[in-house]
Amino acid sequence: METNSLIWFRKGLRIHDNPALDLARRGCKHLYPVFVLDPHYLDPDRNAFSPGSARSGLNRIQFFLESLRDLDASLRRLGSRLLLLRGEPAPVLCRLLKDWKIGKLCFEFDTEPYGLARDKQVRDFASSCGIDVHSPVSHTLFNPSDIIEKNGDRPPLTYQSFIALAGCPVDPCATTYSELPSIGETGDYELLSVPKIEDFGYGDISQEELSPFHGGETEALKRLDQVLEDKAWVTNFEKPKGDPSAFQRPATTVLSPYLKFGCLSSRYFYKRLQDIYTSVGKHTKPPVSLVGQLLWRDFFYTVAFGTPNFDRMKGNKICKQIPWSENKELLVAWRDGRTGFPWIDAIMIQLKKWGWIHHLARHCVACFLTRGDMFIHWEKGRDVFERLLIDSDWAINNGNWLWLSCSSFFYQYYRIYSPISFGKKYDPCGNYIRHFLPVLKDFPKEYIYEPWTAPLSVQKKANCIIGKDYPRPVIDHEIASKECKKKMGEALALSSSKKQQHHNDSQEIAS
Ligand code: FAD
Repeated sequence: METNSLIWFRKGLRIHDNPALDLARRGCKHLYPVFVLDPHYLDPDRNAFSPGSARSGLNRIQFFLESLRDLDASLRRLGSRLLLLRGEPAPVLCRLLKDWKIGKLCFEFDTEPYGLARDKQVRDFASSCGIDVHSPVSHTLFNPSDIIEKNGDRPPLTYQSFIALAGCPVDPCATTYSELPSIGETGDYELLSVPKIEDFGYGDISQEELSPFHGGETEALKRLDQVLEDKAWVTNFEKPKGDPSAFQRPATTVLSPYLKFGCLSSRYFYKRLQDIYTSVGKHTKPPVSLVGQLLWRDFFYTVAFGTPNFDRMKGNKICKQIPWSENKELLVAWRDGRTGFPWIDAIMIQLKKWGWIHHLARHCVACFLTRGDMFIHWEKGRDVFERLLIDSDWAINNGNWLWLSCSSFFYQYYRIYSPISFGKKYDPCGNYIRHFLPVLKDFPKEYIYEPWTAPLSVQKKANCIIGKDYPRPVIDHEIASKECKKKMGEALALSSSKKQQHHNDSQEIAS
């Protein structure tokens, strides 16, 4: 018997390779494509440190609204539209299921704790009403549960062990449609059109420098085609060799925000890469290749899914317990791009303005905040990234902060990024710094990475007096990095002696 079907969009803001949409449209009388706008995600929070809502900075909200607008346009081309409602998502959904007499509910499986809790409420309600629920995994290449099960119900904690378990991902859905089933009666629900950012009362956003990257499946597929056009670049891609200071033409794909919102399917991206590898023959391999990057993404999704309290130090079994310092002043200087180290500050300003920075730039600022210089808790840096990144992703962001702070996965704490010489290797003239910190644009290149060493006459000529127009360094890198190494060495030694002690104790109990 034909039924009414509802596809609930959350991530997965796309038509291509969308198994939940495909399941929903099959054999139904009416198809209701729904998105519920959560006010917490959208409404301004005046107390936040940057413009945006309680959960997100302005750039990501903009990217998200663009993605919704594009999805709505694609659905309209297929004779349907996006039914947009506002409110707490789970209760709104439950009401719709009843009022629209839905027989089949489909949504993409979400692995994040917030999503799991929200979806459980809806799934339980739907099942109690006898509604058929389908929740396929399609945000990642693999199903994290399968990998964890193959590994004896524990997530693999190294990339190599993950790869050994993973095998080949399923192919993306090949189905394309020219039409979707019509929408049935919607009663007296208020259905919204996709709002503009101005509708939320963010004031005059023309004053903000918004991200050059725009949301939506159409943009994602266009960007993917552009990136993949240069087959030599694709097949020779080696992540560690990319230039973090390249901003006019970034050294990586900048597909992360599209993957985050599911405007681009990782399985489709993977398949397109494999096709190029097959046609060209010789290519780089994981972990440094482009396919290797997609596998990193799945690695972090799998570990995050299988690790309780993955997003914090306390109660997280895979996280080293480190006595991080509290220092509000240093944290704010880092966050606002006012540390006095132009390389670090330019990266933080790019993050604020564009919502995207290169992977090695993320390394530099994360190391600087935590184990490199300031010895501040990785959770504080994670929060700043979570707010400002347009690709902000719960599993990947937490996973990488754990990594960079030597709290998990990687423990070579004595390898610290220099806030002076690292950037200089790639960009000796400091063009990146001049772009994002225009106050330093007239400094001679000899001083651009260490402007505080310039004689006063040089500072005057550059129209920038250090300590007045641009801050002096808030920390002495030589001293701070030595101190950090000492503290990290002690904390990690203590952690392994405790582990050894625990191991001995349990052996004693067992015997
Ligand atoms: P490309 O090099 O073109 O890679 C293609 C895709 O592979 C990316 O879009 C991304 O989905 C995936 N990928 C690449 N590198 C990684 C990685 N190290 N871990 C997991 N997946 C990866 N990435 C996010 O998507 N969201 C985050 O919130 C995030 N936070 C980070 C925080 C820190 C401290 C660090 C060091 C890295 C973080 N990353 C995050 C990982 C990485 O920096 C970005 O995925 C990458 O820079 C995005 O640019 P791209 O799309 O051009 O990457």
